[in-house]
Amino acid sequence: MATLGIPQNTIAVLQKYHFNFQKKFGQNFLIDPHVLEKIVEAAGVTKDDFVLEIGPGIGTMTQYLCENAREVTAVEIDTNLIPILEDTLSAYDNVTVINQDILKLDIAKLAMERNGGKPIKVVANLPYYITSKIITKIVSSSTPINRLVAMVQKEVALKLCSEEKSPLKMMIDYVGDVQYELNVPRHVFMPAPHVDSAVISIHKERVISQELIDLIEASYTAKRKTLYNNLKSLYHDQTKELLESCGIPVNKRAEELNIDDYIRILERGHTL
Ligand code: SAM
Repeated sequence: MATLGIPQNTIAVLQKYHFNFQKKFGQNFLIDPHVLEKIVEAAGVTKDDFVLEIGPGIGTMTQYLCENAREVTAVEIDTNLIPILEDTLSAYDNVTVINQDILKLDIAKLAMERNGGKPIKVVANLPYYITSKIITKIVSSSTPINRLVAMVQKEVALKLCSEEKSPLKMMIDYVGDVQYELNVPRHVFMPAPHVDSAVISIHKERVISQELIDLIEASYTAKRKTLYNNLKSLYHDQTKELLESCGIPVNKRAEELNIDDYIRILERGHTL
């Protein structure tokens, strides 16, 4: 099977299998070798690495990952792509394809079985319709994941790499950091999406606890409400006392707090 990632080979595969793009799965396949190389480079993939790829499509990036990693597991939701992947990846003996929704996959179990619980890397050209859910799942996972390299909408990449606060940004600030890697114009995809993309990398250095995630998410429940009102669901009639003991005015809103404020609330909350 010829190397994918250039328009004529991608078209040949799509025609051979009479493949119909499924909009609901956010299918836009990469057709630019330069971008593919840059993604693998940003992930720093070496022959020591176990890589989880989310949404391999017809296997374009998977081929690059197989060339560079020790082992690759690719998780694809679209059953119609499975016979295509068997064909396009037939030259590699270091890849496993799983036909599943990534949101339902037990990543910890996979990492334990395939990599002895050692840190894994995650690489993904993400379907835009669930970008945020997938990044949240990876960032909040207790599995050792030392790097996530993801293609996302440019607008999302700019937000995550800015000072703008959001629950996801708070979680990323806690576990490590995020970097803007490269701009990816819409014309390097087939079919071309309506927006430009960008590649970001998230370096994960520590695990975030479920209670800190719950606190951050509760704080942002209703955007227009104050922190006090949002946190009443967790701390009930002790909310006011808790915020005051942390030196946080009760009329503040979630986006006015930084990650250290949340850690302080959580720690004080334990002593109530
Ligand atoms: N990696 C390929 C590439 O770069 O050419 C395809 C990227 S395409 C933007 C997104 C891929 O994710 C599609 O193959 C789509 O079917 C798959 N996908 C969408 N939702 C998914 C989910 N929940 N779990 C796993 N794969 C999913």
